Formats: sequence, C-alpha cells, structure tokens
Amino acid sequence: MDEKISKLKKIVSTSDKIVAFTGAGFSAESGISTFRGAGSLWSKYDSSIYADINYFIQEPSYYWNFFKDERYPVIKKAKPNDGHYALVELEKRGKLYRVITQNIDGLHQVAGQSDVIELHGNTRKILCTSCDKFYSMDEAYGRLKKELPPRCSCGAILKPSTVLFGEPLPQVALDMAALAAKNCDMFFVIGSSLVVYPAASMPRIAKKNEAVLVIVNIDPTPMDDMADIVIHESASKVLSELV
Ligand SMILES: [Zn+2]
Repeated sequence: MDEKISKLKKIVSTSDKIVAFTGAGFSAESGISTFRGAGSLWSKYDSSIYADINYFIQEPSYYWNFFKDERYPVIKKAKPNDGHYALVELEKRGKLYRVITQNIDGLHQVAGQSDVIELHGNTRKILCTSCDKFYSMDEAYGRLKKELPPRCSCGAILKPSTVLFGEPLPQVALDMAALAAKNCDMFFVIGSSLVVYPAASMPRIAKKNEAVLVIVNIDPTPMDDMADIVIHESASKVLSELV
C-alpha cells in the first residue's frame, strides 16, 4: 500500500492534466447508498418503477414519493468526504484538469470543485418538463409537500435532471468527458466499478491516448489489468494520503 501511494505521488507530481473519474463508491463514503449490489438502492426499490422514464411519464408520483422519502433526506444530510476535499486541493494546486462523475448528489460542487462533468445529471437540479425553468431540490421539496406530483409555476410537471432508466445520457456531458479523457495525462478512476457503459469507456480513451491510468476502488474492476496502478482501498483514505 505505502509503495503504491509513493508511486502514485510520483505520477501526480509529474502530471498537470489529471482527470478524476468518480463513481458510486466515492459517494458511499459520504453515506449515500450505491445503486447496485447488496444493500444498494435498487435492491430496496424497484428501479423499473421508481427510476424509469416510461413509468415516470405514466405515473410521476412514484418517483416523487421516492424523492420525498428516500433521496431528499439522504442527499440533504450527506456531506462531502475527505476525498472530495482532496480533489479540490488538487484543483487549487493546478493539477486537476476535470472531474467527471457518475454520481448525482452534487457533493463535488458542495466541496468547492469548480469544473464537474456530470454524466448522469444532478438530483439537486429539478427541471420543468415544459418551459426552461429549473428549481433547487429544496424548492421542489416545498412544492412536493403541497401537491403530488410537484408542478412548475407554468403548470407542467417537474422532473429531476438525473438520467432515468430508458433515457439517453446527456450528449454534451458525454462529449466533454470523452474530450477530457483524450486530453489528460493521468486518468484517475476513484470509487467506480467501471461496469456501466458508456461511462466506463472513458479509461480506454485515456489509455489509448497515452495517459497514465490509476484505479482506486474497494473491489476489483474489469479494467484493473489495463491500469498502471491499482489500489483496492477506501478512496477518501488514499486521496487524503496523496495530498
Ligand atoms: Zn414550467
């Protein structure tokens, strides 16, 4: 472990275009359940009811009840962990080029990160399904307590900006992420099991363009063999030691 951290420090010291790619394992260290596996969100809630676009269109109250009882209280309470702050520190030192995240909790921004590419949207940002207006999580919650499903002032139903099952990933974010992966000198996977595509294609793009690939994740990933350093450890612990 110590040997790997020193190797990691050496790579970071010679890199100035690091892309950090964060996944559910990173947010789990802030108390937010992962979406897959034992004890995860989708093991408790049927994602085809609570997080599917077709179901949402038919009956949006299921999603909004799930938001009210599960998502809102969890995300409202969650705080950035040492790993989030370590990435902010790397940004301040001029090391970090971009953060790409699969997470939808907005904790990077809460920690003070300025440049975050969100591949799956953000639970804190609520959109109107008709006009251009958007609402904060608190505003949507306030409306939700008065009417289910909550509505925009224009009368249309509100929808989270998160990507629901059956919806495509936002193309702009995908393009920006692919470009960042192509232009970085170090691609730093943190707390992602690298199984969800197309997000998981990013490390391949980086590697193909000769970036150093580092993976920090509790469990093995399908791309461990490709990586220059693999550390199976808590992300916040490794990042704290790094900075
Ligand atoms: Zn509206």
